[in-house]
Amino acid sequence: PGQQLPHDPEKKTIVILGSGWGATSLLKTLDTTDYNVVVISPKNYFLFTPLLPSVAVGTLSPKSILQPTRYLTRHKKRAVTVIEAEAKEVDPINKTVTFEDDSEIKGAVSHTTIPYDYCVYAVGAEVQTFGIPGVQEKACFMKELTDAESMQRRFKDCIETAAFPGQNPSEIDRLLHIVVVGGGPTGVEVSEIHDFLEDDLKSWYPELAGRVRISLVEALPSVLPMFSKQLIDYTESTFKESKIDVLTKTMVKEVKDGSVILQMPDKSITEVPCGMVVWAGGNKGRKITQDLMANFPEVQNNKRGLTVDDHLRMAGADGIFAIGDCTSTSYAPTAQVASQQGAYLARVFAQLAKKGNLEKRLISLSQTISTASGEEKAQIANDIESAKSQISKVKIRPFHYSHQGSLAYIGSDKAIADLPFANGNIASGGVATYLFWRSAYLSTLFSLRNRVLVANDWIITKIFGR
Ligand code: FAD
Ligand code: NAD
Repeated sequence: PGQQLPHDPEKKTIVILGSGWGATSLLKTLDTTDYNVVVISPKNYFLFTPLLPSVAVGTLSPKSILQPTRYLTRHKKRAVTVIEAEAKEVDPINKTVTFEDDSEIKGAVSHTTIPYDYCVYAVGAEVQTFGIPGVQEKACFMKELTDAESMQRRFKDCIETAAFPGQNPSEIDRLLHIVVVGGGPTGVEVSEIHDFLEDDLKSWYPELAGRVRISLVEALPSVLPMFSKQLIDYTESTFKESKIDVLTKTMVKEVKDGSVILQMPDKSITEVPCGMVVWAGGNKGRKITQDLMANFPEVQNNKRGLTVDDHLRMAGADGIFAIGDCTSTSYAPTAQVASQQGAYLARVFAQLAKKGNLEKRLISLSQTISTASGEEKAQIANDIESAKSQISKVKIRPFHYSHQGSLAYIGSDKAIADLPFANGNIASGGVATYLFWRSAYLSTLFSLRNRVLVANDWIITKIFGR
């Protein structure tokens, strides 16, 4: 009873954990002919994270950047089982995954364990809060769709509350002060909220628009350390023009109701009133990842995530491949890396299937040769040699990352791009780069459906506002 796994005992089972960049890229090109494939993720969709801040600001609607996982798997040669559940434990010794339905509505069965031959571990990371008081409870994040929706709701609420009759001026200034923490790409892109002020708020709330302040707080000496110096300067000067205060060498120490506590560059502590805090302080490994690593303390001791070899196999474990933000590699935790790793694994599984089929043929030939006679025997011996030679030719190359460049939207219809070119880099910023940013993201969206929806939202926003 219940959902049947498309299980063929003759075939190996791949259990894919996650439905993000890594997992979706793998699923897109994976040939399922030779495998039982099971996808387990608490979200039954793929989220196009680069456009998440645009949802928070109201430029895009949530469904435009989602792609249901089944939308992709329904076209596969063999049925893929998609299970909306959270993996709770990967047992690398017995090669099983235990998962649970953590959603609001639960049935009589909501917890089970299944075996795997291969596990693709692509659960991503969670938001790093460093245990700073108040961050988890009081700040908005920018990681999941629900984060973008809650940021939008809170921002609108701050404005409506500031517009409440009789609100005193200092309270209005507090409510209209937005503090974004983290000058990495996420924090910088959240500053897209400035577009909402310029394009919409000025006409909807003319008496309040001029009083909105955005502060971007970064502990390091500059924002966007991964971009070239020229683009960092460009971003900082664009923010200055947009009246976004960039506070570098400044560290958030606590988030309170209605304020943030900052440690300033001179180490003094100051309390800054604000209506809303958006936290973009980076990534940390999920608990399930830490638990999995604890099985192999000698080889899995990097706090940033799972250690993998150059074929993306988890060090110490048999049959686990790990990709994306849950790993610690020399690459940055980006969608670009995760999606290339997913596509690489699809090729690895194709090679493994080819090898497996040849090995099966070799076994069957070896079994028949003993009972064969004369001429037939010679033919089978030939076939055995040919199968052996084909097996030896199945080579699985190590993963190679090809960097396509870094892009970020910095608001005011401007974007920045660091693009590799010949042996150097092209750094560009401005409105033309923004058009490039738009076309690059439009073409990167996984389906025509999403491309049409996103393009449509951009047009609707241009005409009717947010
Ligand atoms: P994710 O895409 O996070 O996917 C993880 C998946 O695992 C999710 O489906 C999740 O639901 C699932 N999961 C979680 N826990 C479990 C569990 N216990 N069991 C099973 N499944 C689980 N990168 C770029 O290269 N360019 C960009 O422009 C860019 N913009 C970004 C903008 C924002 C706002 C953010 C937050 C990130 C951005 N990134 C960008 C980074 C990029 O999103 C990540 O590097 C990428 O998502 C990593 O892919 P992943 O598959 O490892 O993890
Ligand atoms: P990040 O780790 O790149 O940046 C987090 C920033 O927060 C750091 O600079 C850190 O110094 C700062 N910070 C942490 N705690 C702080 C505190 N208490 N006070 C002040 N500052 C503090 O994280 P991210 O921006 O979320 O990016 C995560 C990954 O996703 C990166 O690899 C990034 O490249 C990728 N990403 C890429 C894009 C893009 O390419 N457009 C967009 C978003 C994310």
